[in-house]
Amino acid sequence: MNDRAPISWPHALWRGGMRRCPQCGEGRMFQGYLTPHQKCSYCELNFETLDADDGPAYITMGLVCLFVVPFFFIAQVLYEPPFWLALVISLPLTLGIILGLLPLVKGAFMGALWKSRT
Ligand SMILES: [Zn+2]
Repeated sequence: MNDRAPISWPHALWRGGMRRCPQCGEGRMFQGYLTPHQKCSYCELNFETLDADDGPAYITMGLVCLFVVPFFFIAQVLYEPPFWLALVISLPLTLGIILGLLPLVKGAFMGALWKSRT
């Protein structure tokens, strides 16, 4: 499948973020939540060479700290909720955002790894 037009960086990141193969955009990148397939079922790109390691976790933590933490500080200053209410709202919300964002970031990270090698 190397006879296709070159894939741009944003396109590779987008395809990975959508959990699709960054090379063809057709094959699924993950089996389950975060475990990558060995290779693309469509173009046979080897996903084992795109070892993301801890990079997606650090990026996800950075994004959450950058956008979610200021939101909670502002809510604390404006509404002054009781501590227990802030915990009941913020912990599940933060956990949900992290768990929702992590597969997207991992896919985009693997797309970036693939693009950096092409
Ligand atoms: Zn593919």
